[in-house]
Amino acid sequence: MRISDKAAARLKELGVELRQGVSLAEETSLGIGGTTDEILLRRYESIPEVMRLLADEHIPHRLLGGGTNVLIVDGELPWVVLHLPTAHPGMRAEGNAAYVDASADLGGMVTFCAKHDLGGMEGLIGVPGSVGGALRMNAGAYGTQIGPHVREVELYRAATGEIETLRGSDIRFDYRHTSFAPDDLMLRVKLELPSKPFKEIIAGIKVCNEKRRASQPLNQKSAGCIFKNPPGGSAGRMIDELGLKGYRVGDAMVSDRHANFFVNAGHASCSDMLKLIDDVRERVRGAYDVELENEVIVWRN
Ligand SMILES: Cc1cc2nc3c(=O)[nH]c(=O)nc-3n(C[C@H](O)[C@H](O)[C@H](O)COP(=O)(O)OP(=O)(O)OC[C@H]3O[C@@H](n4cnc5c(N)ncnc54)[C@H](O)[C@@H]3O)c2cc1C
Repeated sequence: MRISDKAAARLKELGVELRQGVSLAEETSLGIGGTTDEILLRRYESIPEVMRLLADEHIPHRLLGGGTNVLIVDGELPWVVLHLPTAHPGMRAEGNAAYVDASADLGGMVTFCAKHDLGGMEGLIGVPGSVGGALRMNAGAYGTQIGPHVREVELYRAATGEIETLRGSDIRFDYRHTSFAPDDLMLRVKLELPSKPFKEIIAGIKVCNEKRRASQPLNQKSAGCIFKNPPGGSAGRMIDELGLKGYRVGDAMVSDRHANFFVNAGHASCSDMLKLIDDVRERVRGAYDVELENEVIVWRN
């Protein structure tokens, strides 16, 4: 979608940077996605006004974090993408609290906390993407989830048109699901973390990095796990047992390293990847009578 010159001029007045004709294939870890204009929300304070402008001008929009958990349709997209600037995100430690901007890299936040002897986040070290994306998804790995550490979230709420602060206890964090409204835009978080000596945290980080390297196709384009694990089961194990590692539709392929990672092995299109997802879901349903739910978020038109 192309923003009109009139809207672009008003956005500029609000201190917003507009990037035109951005290929989202280049902004996502799967390397798949069409083209649209991108709005960089540099000043959080101006977000309510920017959102009013987008509503007045009938400009549909979606928020992209690090782009590591999304599968985006190809072609000219009918919505613009909002993005929080990733350079120099705010991070501050105070006692057992860490205050972090949502645009910060999640791994960068884990190491920042480690340097301040704040632990408990070691498991998240290899989860790519932003802190905002981790909050939305309740990212987790190796027994750690971000949710239980959240004490406050500052966010823009489309429902009120204001920037508000939610208490952690008022937010539900479930397995890869949270109670944030779909159009909430997370801006900052306050985490409470246990004190731990730096050396111990680094040792924990090393263990998690090694586990990840041993089991995941980290040098290939993916969005991590495609499906959520069903209650008490493992999506990866079922797909593996069906002999589907290496199964492909065009350049979309079930990783031969981790069966719940689907990779873009060349120039996969969004429809290749969607067909692969549907095929695998159907085979699992046929063999196990289990309906796998997507973990990856699909942005269609
Ligand atoms: C190699 C690899 C390994 C992975 N391993 C794991 C793992 O172990 N555990 C795990 O949980 N995930 C894993 N993932 C998936 C992914 O990294 C996480 O879900 C991550 O938290 C997504 O963050 P992101 O910033 O990239 O979000 P995006 O992919 O950009 O967006 C995901 C969703 O979050 C929303 N969102 C993003 N930022 C904000 C914000 N500031 N406010 C409101 N909504 C927002 C988007 O609108 C979208 O709906 C892996 C991915 C890859 C590629």
